Amino acid sequence: MTIEFKNDSILKIGTKTAQKEGYQLLDCQLTIHAICPRCQRALVPA
Ligand SMILES: [Zn+2]
Repeated sequence: MTIEFKNDSILKIGTKTAQKEGYQLLDCQLTIHAICPRCQRALVPA
């Protein structure tokens, strides 16, 4: 499963990083790849 969300501090970091290189930030996103507890148990049987 993939969760995408936008966050002000992520955007600020992205803008700062882009400006350092002389770029102008157009879009910035943080992607989290995660697995729910139920699927974790299915993958790794205790
Ligand atoms: Zn699941």
